[in-house]
Formats: sequence, structure tokens, C-alpha cells
Amino acid sequence: MSANLLIYLDGKLVPESEAKISVFDHGLLYGDGVFEGIRIYNGRVFRLTEHLHRLYDCAKAICLTVPLSFEEMEKATLDTVAANNLRDGYIRLVITRGVGSLGLNPYQCPKASVFIIASSITLYPAERYEKGLELITCGTRRPNSSALSPQVKSLNYLNNIMAKIECLQAGCDEGIMLNDQGFVSECTGDNVFIVKNGKVFTPPVSSGALDGITRRAVMELLAEMGSPCTEAVMTRFDIYTADECFLTGTAAEVIPAVKYDRRPIGDGTPGKLTQELTKRFKVLANSTGTPVTYA
Ligand code: PMP
Repeated sequence: MSANLLIYLDGKLVPESEAKISVFDHGLLYGDGVFEGIRIYNGRVFRLTEHLHRLYDCAKAICLTVPLSFEEMEKATLDTVAANNLRDGYIRLVITRGVGSLGLNPYQCPKASVFIIASSITLYPAERYEKGLELITCGTRRPNSSALSPQVKSLNYLNNIMAKIECLQAGCDEGIMLNDQGFVSECTGDNVFIVKNGKVFTPPVSSGALDGITRRAVMELLAEMGSPCTEAVMTRFDIYTADECFLTGTAAEVIPAVKYDRRPIGDGTPGKLTQELTKRFKVLANSTGTPVTYA
């Protein structure tokens, strides 16, 4: 646990020990709610507006009335970062359905709750950023979007958690999740890219990939580098035969993957394009974003 954080909870900044949610909150009882993960680099919040737009879209998709306006949410987020004097870190912004009865009915939850944690996150061991991750194919598939759209960043992450358990039990930190048709969609918490003969590819969102904000940023950088990324329906074959592979995500940032299903990807070391992209992403992240006003 982090030391003495100030947490935003429904309009107030309160000490961590007082930041409590009811056991009757449907976010807890049913995973009924939405969230965002956002990074702070060098005193600036990276792509805050994009993250908040995705949050509000997800809330709308599940008929969740957000009790704060967009501007109020933006201010609450920046105030929480400032109150914790955080220059580099990670924000978790959560909207739960709120307190209700012991049935599913969300309309019996009169008011959504909002909480914001400004802290830090480490998704993978530091040496994996140098040496690369090893991936497996997870048996757990991404749900068909007609069941639950992978675009909804909901508090129900059990699908991803089941896949993550498989990765960890296989001694890997990450894995590739296929969609119900067997095409590559993404990883348990990141988007996936491959490089083949100098060309970059990533699965389209229609394959079940989250429309990741880091994915978008990386696609912009790749275009600037003269290696524009093409969205392409992908199978495991494409990763087995790729020259390079890397993953992107807010928590993960840009990280190389060097092994897949026990086979080396390319020569089994982080590729040149991946390394160049990582450098450029760091520059972008540290020089752009919404500035935080610290006391
Ligand atoms: N896919 C999944 C399933 C995720 O949870 C995340 C993390 N939000 C991502 C991809 C990467 O998205 P982003 O770059 O917006 O963090």
C-alpha cells in the first residue's frame, strides 16, 4: 500500500484510510462501473482529454449517469494529482454504479460514485523493458462484442484476469488473447503490434482490441517515423513469423516482446524499430499533456 495518499471520493479529497465504498456498491457486487488508467509524466497528464472522452463514452454505453460534468472531472483529476504532489505516476479514475439493493437492477442505485487514486503502477519487471517479454497464447478468448464490447472499460475485468492467470501459471508476464473466431485481438492489458519486412501491423478494434490511447499515440509516432501502421486481421502465424513485436498500454507504455509460445520472435531480442519507437514515445510523453498546477 502506498503511504498516506489523498483520494478523491465523491467531491472530497480524503486520506486513504477514509476512502471507503459501501459493500452494497454495484461496482463491487457486480463489476458495474467503468474506469480509466492515465499516466502523469513530468508534471503533465498524458492525453487527459482523450481518456476522459473514452470514460464518458463507456459510461454512456452502460447507461451510467456520471455525477460530474466533463470539466468537473478534469478538474477533480488534476486536483488529485496536485494534492498528492505527483510529478510522475499513474491515475486510476473509477465510476461505480453506486449503492443499490442486492439485485442487478441498476436503476435502484440512485447515485454513481466517483473516486480517483493518484499513485504509481508497475505492470512488468523493469528488466523486461530491456530484454523483452515472453508471451503465450491464452486459452481464454476475448468475448464477442455482441456479448460485451471490449471497448467498454468496465469494472468487470475477469475475462482479462482469467487470461492473466494462464500467463502467470505458464511463467510469462503477458499473453495474446484471441477473439472468438481465433484471430489475434490484444493482450490481457495491452495492445499488440508486429513489424514484418519494415511494415507495422496491429489488429483492428473490430478484432476485439481496445481502442487504446497509447495505441493511438504510437500510431501517430509511427506515421511521423515514416513507418505507418496498418490495421490488419492477424493470426498467430503473423506473430510467429514477425521480425519484431511490441505491446502498448498506459501502464505498460511501449514494451518489446521477444518470445511467443516458446518460439523466438525475430532473432529473440528487442527490434530496432521497437527501440526507436520507445525513445520517441518517452520524448512525446515527457513533453506533452495537460499541465498540473502544484501548490
Ligand atoms: N487493452 C486492454 C484490455 C487494456 O486494459 C488496456 C489498458 N487500458 C489496453 C489495451 C491499452 O489501452 P491504453 O493505451 O488506453 O491504456
